[in-house]
Amino acid sequence: MNIPETKLPRVVIIGGGFAGISLAQKLLKLPLQTVLLDRHNYHTFQPLLYQVSTSGLEPDSIAYPLRKITRLHSGGYFRMGEVTGIDAESNIVHSDIGDLNYDYLVIATGSKTNFFGNKSIEENAMWMKTVPQALNIRSLILENLEQAVITEDPEKRRALLNFVLAGAGPTGVELSGAIAELRNQVVPKDYPDIAADEMQIHLLEGLDRVLPPMSVKASENAHKFLEELGVHIHLNTMVESYDGHLVKTNTDLELRSETFIWSAGVTGAPVAGLNASAMIEKANRYQVNEFNQVHGYENIFAIGDIAIMQSEDYPRGHPMVAQPAIQQGSHLAKNFSRLLKGEQLKAFEYFDKGSMATVGRNRAVVDIGKFKFGGFFAWYIWMFIHLWFLIGFRNRFVTFFNWVYNYINYDKAARLIIRPFKGFKIAMENNQKKS
Ligand SMILES: Cc1cc2nc3c(=O)[nH]c(=O)nc-3n(C[C@H](O)[C@H](O)[C@H](O)COP(=O)(O)OP(=O)(O)OC[C@H]3O[C@@H](n4cnc5c(N)ncnc54)[C@H](O)[C@@H]3O)c2cc1C
Repeated sequence: MNIPETKLPRVVIIGGGFAGISLAQKLLKLPLQTVLLDRHNYHTFQPLLYQVSTSGLEPDSIAYPLRKITRLHSGGYFRMGEVTGIDAESNIVHSDIGDLNYDYLVIATGSKTNFFGNKSIEENAMWMKTVPQALNIRSLILENLEQAVITEDPEKRRALLNFVLAGAGPTGVELSGAIAELRNQVVPKDYPDIAADEMQIHLLEGLDRVLPPMSVKASENAHKFLEELGVHIHLNTMVESYDGHLVKTNTDLELRSETFIWSAGVTGAPVAGLNASAMIEKANRYQVNEFNQVHGYENIFAIGDIAIMQSEDYPRGHPMVAQPAIQQGSHLAKNFSRLLKGEQLKAFEYFDKGSMATVGRNRAVVDIGKFKFGGFFAWYIWMFIHLWFLIGFRNRFVTFFNWVYNYINYDKAARLIIRPFKGFKIAMENNQKKS
């Protein structure tokens, strides 16, 4: 990987997500050689991915170059590569760009979409964890609208204009709200040949309320806001299969749809190589102690979504959201500083700053301690917090400008099919057939 051996202890961080960059930014100030590895050369601000997939924001405004973080210190290195395995006996990570030895290893690989073993959904649904996947959804939505205008088959037209989402957690709620806004604000202007009620958005949830991780009040508010936007909500409804055209559920409901988005769960994204006892198998996440040390290893740590730190307050580990990841990264950096000074490590304590979700323009729900509220003020707070946590001044500025522009003009500026999803998929399949 072309990284010089020095006298400084080497810390290798796998993953430049919220946890990885929060750690790297602080480690760079310590007498350590810090190597950050990620399969992408940018950090993704996942909470705003749904705005990319619904044409509200350009992808560049929610991504941040990882080299901009490591360049801040001469002891900092970034390498773009996929880590494929860990050899903990020899203290080496294996990757598609070569091997690298470490003194300390920090695994911050986050999570991946969970299909719960359902192959038909995995093969045919869309999902959203990365910028390319968000762009695929954006292209598919726009391509289906374009096709709906020209098709003469009424059944096909209905399927092209039916948008179905499974999972009414924050992602499903935010995404369906944003698609509804696209339908309410942009489609009537751009596609005058599509009647407003022809485009349908269905949100399916297996439990008995939307936003199950939030308070009942937040669920009720979000439910009301979604209905006001014209989203059809189906509670206690589990998707059983999707063959690319038909969504089948455990109830009588069957929906023809050419756009089915799966947002019903995540699971850890571990790296192969550690002992089975290091994992909580059901969750696919590493079991860590209060210092984020992986069970059974002294010099291997895990932070963020990939780590489960069980405690009395959090018997199933911390929620898989950005705050625990940021706080664990920052706390581990302080523990590295203590380690270097030969001091005792301090236990991690999570400070819950609350949770929130937005449902289109002017509407959001917020739970902060015992304060639970929804509406315009919540939306204002949601915007402010997301701008605050976006990485980089340029990204904040561009996002703010876009939001103001969209707000004033009732518009979504980024509705471009730059890389067609269907065309791309067909070309890939043809290539595979030829080879
Ligand atoms: C669509 C969506 C919306 C969300 N909305 C919210 C929200 O509104 N609020 C909130 O608090 N949280 C939200 N979350 C959750 C939040 O984004 C995660 O909890 C957070 O990103 C976890 O941070 P992390 O650093 O653990 O993992 P991630 O941010 O996922 O970072 C993991 C990094 O590791 C890299 N990586 C993984 N495996 C490898 C490998 N083998 N080799 C090299 N690199 C690898 C990945 O490329 C990635 O950069 C959302 C998540 C999604 C997907």
